[in-house]
Amino acid sequence: MVLIKGAKIVDGTGKKSPYVADVLITGDKISAIGKFPGKKADLIIDGLGLYLTPGFIDVNTDSDHHLSLFTNPQQQDFLLQGVTTIFGGMCGSSLAPLLYGSLDSIRKWTDTSQVNIGWHSMAEFLKILSQRKLGVNFGTLIGHSTIRRALVGEDSRDLTVPELNFFKKLIADSMAEGAFGLSTGLGYNHSRRVPYYEIKELVKLVSEKNGLYATHLRDEREGLLAAVNETLKITEETGTKTLISHLKPIIGFENDYKKAVELIHGAAGTVNVRYDNYPFDESVVPIYTLLPAWAQIGNLEIMLTYLDNQDMRERLLKDLAGINGNAIRISQASGREYLIGKTLHEFADNQELGVPEALLKLMKLTGLRATVFYRNINLDLLTANLERNQVLIASNGASLPAGSKSMKHERFYNTFPKFIEVVTRLKTLSLPQAIEKITSVPSGLFNLKNRGLIAENYVADLNIISIKSGVVQIEHVLVNGQPAVQNRQPLPILSGKVLKK
Ligand SMILES: [Zn+2]
Repeated sequence: MVLIKGAKIVDGTGKKSPYVADVLITGDKISAIGKFPGKKADLIIDGLGLYLTPGFIDVNTDSDHHLSLFTNPQQQDFLLQGVTTIFGGMCGSSLAPLLYGSLDSIRKWTDTSQVNIGWHSMAEFLKILSQRKLGVNFGTLIGHSTIRRALVGEDSRDLTVPELNFFKKLIADSMAEGAFGLSTGLGYNHSRRVPYYEIKELVKLVSEKNGLYATHLRDEREGLLAAVNETLKITEETGTKTLISHLKPIIGFENDYKKAVELIHGAAGTVNVRYDNYPFDESVVPIYTLLPAWAQIGNLEIMLTYLDNQDMRERLLKDLAGINGNAIRISQASGREYLIGKTLHEFADNQELGVPEALLKLMKLTGLRATVFYRNINLDLLTANLERNQVLIASNGASLPAGSKSMKHERFYNTFPKFIEVVTRLKTLSLPQAIEKITSVPSGLFNLKNRGLIAENYVADLNIISIKSGVVQIEHVLVNGQPAVQNRQPLPILSGKVLKK
């Protein structure tokens, strides 16, 4: 039994002002809220002057893509920012189902040889994960590209009718086994040419099963409006709930973003559509995505051959002429770890090359297996939208193991405190409204039962936080009633659960 005494409760509904009460936790549930002076408990946490909130829910994470669910099961970078539940299987790639046990669709994020794949179906994957235990709760969507690449390999052809039917059966089975829905990664090279009718057929099924459709758009730049229109059309025609992943104002495309956002907010009266954001000005992207669209065709090995082809190289250098070497920092560089942390500009100077030439050299040196921080987001524009109902918060990050050979972006460990600080400083949201957006709203979107609110019989995923001079600090965290962070320190307890739809 755990007793939290005298904290100001922000219950997640967004409606109630913070109120002082004691909260009693029995097992993994909140058993009572009230005044319990003199009550004994195994652990008593003094909440005086602190806020008690539901644990935060991160709707788009990459811990599965980086395989850190296996290499760092505690996931402490999430816990330390108050995140108790993470969702994966986003942007078209999931760890299950795997038809042939291959993780090709996540090669752009990580070295896939780190983990022995001992599963095929969603059920087998979720079972293995729950046996190995995690520090946070984890739920997943089904990655469209994961299945599609198992079916067609490196081809970009349309699916045959039997393939599409088989695809549907896999989705139905995986959802029955606990997946929360389907994600697409239409902006990635293997999926850019996937036809509308294929996605619609699959999403229709997901919608019938009351799942969620999440999409990494086909294009976030020139084609943003068309991509958003396509997504809204699918949402309307299938009746699905849709989450557009990391929709951001990319510098140079702000007007398209403004129009896209207004389309979404306009449609939101009649269809269920939301989008997620992190409050930072940098994206973290696989290096090959810096290539012009025409050169992002085929797999990494094929793309590498373009860099050696004289005609293509000239065309590449021309197309990359405007790239800003100071806006790009190397965060991961397979086999070339000494480059981590350097800007592209520094690398270019060091190599005595122009920035476009240096970028191509970096791509070759790392075999296109590098990631970069790319400062390409108009943060003012993004921040101005955070208050809106359709916006959810997601780190789009991963909790990487200590000593991992990559640089951690702040959004991997500070997205949620930062969000609360930004909106409360600007007074665009009250504290209860900010907490609602990262607790009960995502819980509702994923249909989580008994999570995301502080109420009796709800699961005790809880944060105790201090806010001093506008700075948010996560002091204690409970996951399923067990202390996971105490006095800002993670505890070696893996009390997360694998969540199933
Ligand atoms: Zn994505």
